[in-house]
Amino acid sequence: MNRTFRFKNFTTREDPETLPEYSAICHSTDPQDVEGEAEEALCLDSSGGFATAEEADNWMRQHMRKTGHRHFRRSFEDYAELLPTDELEPARVARVTA
Ligand SMILES: [Zn+2]
Repeated sequence: MNRTFRFKNFTTREDPETLPEYSAICHSTDPQDVEGEAEEALCLDSSGGFATAEEADNWMRQHMRKTGHRHFRRSFEDYAELLPTDELEPARVARVTA
């Protein structure tokens, strides 16, 4: 018996229905006095989401002016969509022929 498996082909694209999001979280440390012992704690103040990288940068600059903090984790997130292409492609499996 000879079988051919076929799979639909998909391509990936940025989902046009949703916008990408830029954000930053402060990863600076401040010395804290916890029960008489000095410990360092991450600030972890979050910018929330912005539509552009410039807005996230501006938030970091404003946060630095207020706190002196200069270390951040920046994030970029977008949404992807898989689109089926019209043509069918044979599966890439080695076939055994008798
Ligand atoms: Zn901070």
